[in-house]
Amino acid sequence: MQKLLSVLLSAILFSAPAFAVKFEANVDPALRQQMTDDLNFIGQVQGPQATPLHQKVFGALNGPNYAKWFDSRIVSIGKNACGGGKAVACVIPMLGSNRMWVTPNYTQFSHPQISRVSVIYHEARHSEVQNGNWSHATCPTPFKDANGNDVKSVWTGALLQGEPACDVTPFGSYGSATILLKNIAINCANCNSKVRADANLYGNDQLGRVINPQAKAAMLTDFGMNRRRR
Ligand SMILES: [Zn+2]
Repeated sequence: MQKLLSVLLSAILFSAPAFAVKFEANVDPALRQQMTDDLNFIGQVQGPQATPLHQKVFGALNGPNYAKWFDSRIVSIGKNACGGGKAVACVIPMLGSNRMWVTPNYTQFSHPQISRVSVIYHEARHSEVQNGNWSHATCPTPFKDANGNDVKSVWTGALLQGEPACDVTPFGSYGSATILLKNIAINCANCNSKVRADANLYGNDQLGRVINPQAKAAMLTDFGMNRRRR
């Protein structure tokens, strides 16, 4: 009886997904499954609060709200090489700003689920035509972290200096993905400790791509990461 109940329950859940986005026919089953799992994951998170920047970009920290945010930007997900190489996903305004494209790297790269989710939300931010699709900024050359090491892509290990892979505002694609990740790390109530640790790790990494000092300072304040001055 209990088994029957749980089968029924999962059937009901499956028939009522949080997300309305449609997959195009060229998305193979494994990729579709992975993305569906990832969307279902973010579609059920809950947090009692969110930081002011999160409130501004996404609203409250909860799954149905994230689903609504995504669905108002992306109507379909298809498969595309996204320019080839190591790209994971993209929005190609010429093909319609409300279509997202994913590459086989989405399932072939080994990264935590919450980091894949952040890629999906990064790309969804690029759908905003009214904001010039939030184009990237060019990373400086040289591009060093606080320890003097070259900043590299957490996804591919590639050097980021001189690449169009940075942001000058908290509201761009990298900035908003950082806000999402850091809020999951700080405020998600029903995420396990692995998810929160992964979100923190990737959030800090993405924060490193925000190169405007004022933008970065505002984000550090938002995340409660400012050190007290003596
Ligand atoms: Zn981007």
